[in-house]
Amino acid sequence: MSADNPERTPAKPQVLLNHHLKQLKLPTFLSEYDKLARECARDGVDHTRYLLRLAELELIERERRMVERRIRAARFPAVKSLDTFDFMAIPSLNKMLVLELARGEYILRRENIIALGPSGTGKSHIALALGLAACQRGMAVGFTTAAGLVHQLMEARDEKRLLRFQAGLAAYKLLIIDELGYVPLSPTGAELLFEVFSQRYERGSTLVTSNLPFEDWTSVFGSERLTGALLDRLTHHVHILEMNGDSYRLKQSKSRRRKVQQTPGEETPATGLVDPNTGEITAP
Ligand code: ADP
Ligand code: MG
Repeated sequence: MSADNPERTPAKPQVLLNHHLKQLKLPTFLSEYDKLARECARDGVDHTRYLLRLAELELIERERRMVERRIRAARFPAVKSLDTFDFMAIPSLNKMLVLELARGEYILRRENIIALGPSGTGKSHIALALGLAACQRGMAVGFTTAAGLVHQLMEARDEKRLLRFQAGLAAYKLLIIDELGYVPLSPTGAELLFEVFSQRYERGSTLVTSNLPFEDWTSVFGSERLTGALLDRLTHHVHILEMNGDSYRLKQSKSRRRKVQQTPGEETPATGLVDPNTGEITAP
C-alpha cells in the first residue's frame, strides 16, 4: 500500500475522513465536524456527545432538504401558509378543522378535502397552505388546477403515455386539484378526470376546491351519472371546508380605498398617484 512507502507522505487522516464522509453522503458531518470538535474540546464535551451533536445536525439538515425537495416537486404556483391566513375574515370556515387538517393525519387515513365557496374567499390559499403543511410532514404532494390536469391527461393520452402519467399521479399522497368548476369539461376530459378520482379512491388523499355547490357539478362533468359516481367516491371520507363570504381581494382593496379617502387634513391625492383598481397610493 502507498501508506507503507516511506518515500510518500501518507494521506492525512483529515483527507481520508473528508473522502469517507463524502462517500457516506454525510455533508453536514463534513462541513461541521472540525468546528464542532473545537467547540466540544473547549467546553469539555465528551466524544459520544460530540458525535451525537453531529448526527443531530445531519438529521436536521437532511429533513430540511427533503422538505425543500417536496415543495419543489409539488409545483405550487405560490408558497402560502396558514400563518398568513386571517381566519377572522371568513367566519364560515372552521378554523379548528383546518388546524387539525394541517397535522396531516387525514392523509394517512386517505381522506379527502373539498373547499367550497365563491371566488376570492381564500380557497386556493388554504389549499396551498395545507399542501405546504403536508410537504413539511414529508408527504409527496402534487398541485394542479382541474383545467391544467385535464389538459395534461389529454396530452398524455394522445402521446400514448397515459398509464405512466396516471402512475405518477398515484404516487402523490395528496393531490390538490384547484378550481374545479371554472371551465366545463369535454366528455373525454370529464372521463379522464373521473378516472383520476376513481383511482385515488381509498388509495390517496385528494383536495378539491370549487366555486360551485355540489348540485352544479353536473354542469362541469356534463353527465349526471358520472357526477354521481364521482361525488360518491370523493365524499365517502371527506372534510368539507365551507368558505362562504365576501371576496378577500375585494374587501382589501375597498378598505385601502377607504383609508385613502379618510386621511384627515389632507387633500385627496391627485389622480395618477392612486392605483384606480386597488386604491393603493403609488407615490408619496
Ligand atoms: P379563491 O381561491 O377562493 O378564489 P384565493 O385563495 O386566491 O381565493 O384568495 C385571493 C387572495 O386573497 C390571495 O392572495 C389570498 O392569499 C388572499 N386571501 C384570501 N383570503 C384570505 C384570508 N382570510 N387571509 C389572508 N389572505 C387571504
Ligand atoms: Mg383560487
